Amino acid sequence: MSEVPKPSSARTIPIVEQPPSASASRAWALPLPQPTSAVQRPFPPLDTHSRPLRDLRISVTDRCNFRCGYCMPRSAFGNDHPFLPYAELLSFEEITRAANVLLPLGVRKLRLTGGEPLLRKDLERLVAQLSALRTLDGTPPELTLTTNGTLLKRKAAALKAAGLQRVTVSLDALDNATFQRMSDTGLHVHEVLEGIEAAQAVGLGPIKVNMVVQKGVNDDQILPMVRHFKGSGIELRFIEFMDVGQTNGWQMQHVLPSDEVRARIHAEHPLLPAPPHQAGETAQRWSHADGQGHVGFISSVTQAFCGDCNRLRLSTDGRLYTCLFATQGHDLRSHLRATPAASDEDISARLAALWSQRQDRYSEQRSQSPTGSTLGRTDHAPRIEMSYIGG
Ligand code: SAM
Ligand code: SF4
Ligand code: SF4
Repeated sequence: MSEVPKPSSARTIPIVEQPPSASASRAWALPLPQPTSAVQRPFPPLDTHSRPLRDLRISVTDRCNFRCGYCMPRSAFGNDHPFLPYAELLSFEEITRAANVLLPLGVRKLRLTGGEPLLRKDLERLVAQLSALRTLDGTPPELTLTTNGTLLKRKAAALKAAGLQRVTVSLDALDNATFQRMSDTGLHVHEVLEGIEAAQAVGLGPIKVNMVVQKGVNDDQILPMVRHFKGSGIELRFIEFMDVGQTNGWQMQHVLPSDEVRARIHAEHPLLPAPPHQAGETAQRWSHADGQGHVGFISSVTQAFCGDCNRLRLSTDGRLYTCLFATQGHDLRSHLRATPAASDEDISARLAALWSQRQDRYSEQRSQSPTGSTLGRTDHAPRIEMSYIGG
């Protein structure tokens, strides 16, 4: 049965400039560009830095049952936070159509994210729809999900049966007190560990575990996490705390550079450089010298990797973002809901134009700035929140 948007209480989306807040950036939507001449661009399109489009990240909800301080601090995402009303969410059919139009433009991988994607009701129905799509070369897209893991125990089997291939689980500590403090939750860390086990049991792998490292907050958990996951077939990846969004109080002094994390691990568990799985991969991979698996490092602060960034993000309410650090999205939803209906060809041509015009290289610009701050930007509009477009 198709998902029909319910009428909402008609929350008005502001169209005027607002002070930075967790929700302000939604006001900054641009129209999708007009199609450019087919003669002027290659197809599938490359952006202005010759990067192809490969990876589509789809946010299915802006809500979450955690309040990780680096992502959705409770001070900005409290009980009165205006999350998107249901009518503003793309339906599963709209998401599937968007993916179907983007796959011929080069997309090979679909990642469901959020907010916490497992909070979206009947998500396995979307998974089934997406898994029936095909890439440009006729193969099924890679279909993955990023989750905080708390609902995995309940959902893993249904997701696998619907066609989900892999999961990435976010977990910042094994120590329960540190875990609860960082996620601002009363749930026990065992819930996540059991979710990981459930995903492993049904074959949602190879599983990756993402750990955001904040200096002085959870860096004492690096080695316990390595010891726990080494030899398990699960790849543990360390993410540098990023200056994404407006609300997480990011400061460079809270970033523990990946080089330092790696040195700490190497001292106890010697590491060797390992080749990436594929071009454009966010993590640098290292293997345990004793053959007991891999660890990865996502170093978007200290080692910018915009050069081969092939990611496009679709927000819960149908805006496209060509960079995680964008201030403005492009409005796809109005084309998906147009009356009379817009053709797939028209939408495709506009999306090709959007990708062809893409210039983003925020992390590289940040690393070239003398203060390591956000000087890469020339505008001062509020940046979108990670929980709104996903990681
Ligand atoms: N709720 C799901 C989860 O936590 O896996 C999916 C959405 S979450 C926004 C996606 C990823 O973004 C998570 O791995 C999270 O750790 C990461 N993330 C969020 N804020 C971050 C920040 N400021 N710096 C680095 N990573 C961040
Ligand atoms: Fe929720 Fe994920 Fe953000 Fe944590 S990182 S608050 S689990 S969306
Ligand atoms: Fe891609 Fe933007 Fe991140 Fe650079 S800063 S890697 S362009 S998402």
